[in-house]
Amino acid sequence: MNYRKLFSFLQTSQREPIPGRADMVRNDAGGFTFALDDWKRLDRFLVLGSEGGTYYASERKLTHDNADTMLRALQADGLRAVARVVEISQAARAPKNDPALFALAMAAGMGDDATRAAALAALPKVARTASHLFVFAEYVEGFRGWGRGLRRAVADWYLAMPLERLVLQAVKYKARGEKDRRWSNRDLLRLAHPEAPAGDVARRALFDRIVRPDGEAPLPAGLEQLAAAEELARATDARAAARLIVEHRLPREAVPSELQRAPEVWTALLADMPMTAMLRSLGRMASIGLLVKGSGAEKTVRERLADRARLKAARVHPIHVLLALAMYGRGQGLRGGLSWTPAPSVLDALDAAFYVAFKGIVPAGKRVAIGLDVSGSMTMGMVAGTPLVPRVAAAAMAMITSATEPGTLVWAFAERMVPIAISPRQRLDDVVKATSDLPFGATDVALPMLHALETRAEVDAFVVYTDNETWAGAVHPVQALKRYRDRTGIAAKLVVVGMTSTGFTVADPQDGGMLDVVGFDASAPQLIADFIGDRL
Ligand code: CA
Repeated sequence: MNYRKLFSFLQTSQREPIPGRADMVRNDAGGFTFALDDWKRLDRFLVLGSEGGTYYASERKLTHDNADTMLRALQADGLRAVARVVEISQAARAPKNDPALFALAMAAGMGDDATRAAALAALPKVARTASHLFVFAEYVEGFRGWGRGLRRAVADWYLAMPLERLVLQAVKYKARGEKDRRWSNRDLLRLAHPEAPAGDVARRALFDRIVRPDGEAPLPAGLEQLAAAEELARATDARAAARLIVEHRLPREAVPSELQRAPEVWTALLADMPMTAMLRSLGRMASIGLLVKGSGAEKTVRERLADRARLKAARVHPIHVLLALAMYGRGQGLRGGLSWTPAPSVLDALDAAFYVAFKGIVPAGKRVAIGLDVSGSMTMGMVAGTPLVPRVAAAAMAMITSATEPGTLVWAFAERMVPIAISPRQRLDDVVKATSDLPFGATDVALPMLHALETRAEVDAFVVYTDNETWAGAVHPVQALKRYRDRTGIAAKLVVVGMTSTGFTVADPQDGGMLDVVGFDASAPQLIADFIGDRL
């Protein structure tokens, strides 16, 4: 018998742990990977959420596991956990705010006294709109009752928000939130009873109108926008509606449904439309003939998409640009009905905006090889609660690094290397298309390193996009990297970009040359460049 074949520190089947590594755990695919520490897993949850689950774990299981992680973080250091939630939410690093609201609600109910107080004090920082507040109110009931502290925090939320912004919340969110959400401004005001000072006439009148929407009393100075919204709700003439919208900067939510397809109304709305609303409305605007080349609306849209400062100020997450590109490019709405011809100029502007939406990335100036896991499991689940599957989101993210570092190699792999032709010179929707129809297969995350050895590619850093559910290789990814380092003499690094919120990683936590990054974190490409450029 050959002992070396049966036991080696250098070559271990992915179906077994590396000898001596007690920190390896079995992933959901049956392979062995390292366990991600709780703080890093919390980051994954805050950015990626658990909507849609993964190929291997249901949405329910993934959510439970992440809640357990948050609980352990709360027990270990509650204030640190709250601070992390606030930081990621405020920096707009996550495509959706729901995971942060969930984690904050958990801290407000399950933390110790100091943690609960900190969580409630942070409420306006994480719940920045009434819609966020409704979601928080729903989540928090799962963790505590409506005691005085919680009611006080909600009352303070309504008292502390500048009046102008609060009026907009009342105008935008008149009814209860989406789907099964059960809270409205009216419900929360009745529960929390915020008491505005006697001198704050406008705020008192606003609260009164929200609680009694049929009230007839004339509205005082400071509530002109609310009065205009009430007038708009009764409007039947598109031109009169457009005048009200422009004059009082009214949002789309205030437009009565009979006027929702009037071009005058949409031209008026576009004048002051927030970036994220604009991205979501491109199809609708196109379907009523507004976005044809050379039109005023088309020019406005193009200019705004190219405006870096504007994108940044609006906290536009790149995933929203990618989604807008995918949706608008389809030429028809998801639920049927609407259809349009996408304007190439708008598609180009969206493509460029995707790269602009990532903060100014300083290139690392290194030789980079990107490995895209295109195995079957990367086609399931919804990245950050969007219709994008991990495989597509990963390809889009990879284009950023690829565009930043000249000469980057891009490889796709499953159980074998998969030929795939994508480059940052292509438009993003073509990249997405190229990764959408690939054959399924098992997963071997060691392949990029082995392939580099085989093809004598000189690589300073491997960046692998994966769900970390590797199992099909004869050697672990870290062993393959070690082999690459030993044979080439290059101290190659490995960045693992996790595309699902599981607790697994192929990166060795004991090796300083490896880094875990969260997929679709808006700051990920900068983090990757800093790490491979030795700036961390
Ligand atoms: Ca897989």
